[in-house]
Amino acid sequence: LFITFEGGDGAGKSTQVALLTEYLRGRELEVLHTREPGGTDLGLALREVLLHSENEIVPRAEALIYAADRANNIATRVRPALERGAIVLQDRYLDSSVAYQGSGRDLGAEEIRDLSLWATEGLLPDVSVLLDIDPVSGRERVAAQRGGLDRLEAESRDFHERVRAKFLELAAAEPSRFLVVDASLAPEAIAELVQARVDAALAA
Ligand code: C5P
Repeated sequence: LFITFEGGDGAGKSTQVALLTEYLRGRELEVLHTREPGGTDLGLALREVLLHSENEIVPRAEALIYAADRANNIATRVRPALERGAIVLQDRYLDSSVAYQGSGRDLGAEEIRDLSLWATEGLLPDVSVLLDIDPVSGRERVAAQRGGLDRLEAESRDFHERVRAKFLELAAAEPSRFLVVDASLAPEAIAELVQARVDAALAA
């Protein structure tokens, strides 16, 4: 079972991935908890470039760097885990690329989706949790938690509104894959909704 967590910056994805990991491990299930960018050593180096480089990174280069990170993470960590029957919980995946690079950077949803499918040899998630947050609250949360905004988090409000709208559009187009949750709910309340959805997927 491949489960991805998506949403804007500050939506609380990492908290939810951690809570679900704990819940599933408590049931003696094998869980791989991973994230993008940064699931492998190469990915960590690419994450550093994407978030903190002083160099100019044009949108197409950015999209390709995310795709390179993804290709490596899926081939070396995610596929082997799925093949041995583990549950993979991943913080961000192709919907983030479609929302941020496809829509935020205006590179086109279809092109970015195709690039990601090429990079991963077509791996799609079974379940995707979208933590929907309005960009203003998300920004406040990030600034409070990390004490500063990364290069991408400092993008305009309009950029983040486009990203949010694309996430919601993607979720509406595939209701059977997506669980959309209001990220302003309490973390425990969100965790319960997520657990119910995952329990249903496990039982299916
Ligand atoms: O979710 P996380 O905080 O790890 O993401 C790191 C940064 O990368 C965020 O600012 C996010 O907006 C950005 N990002 C992006 N495009 C992606 C994935 C993440 O711009 N495809």
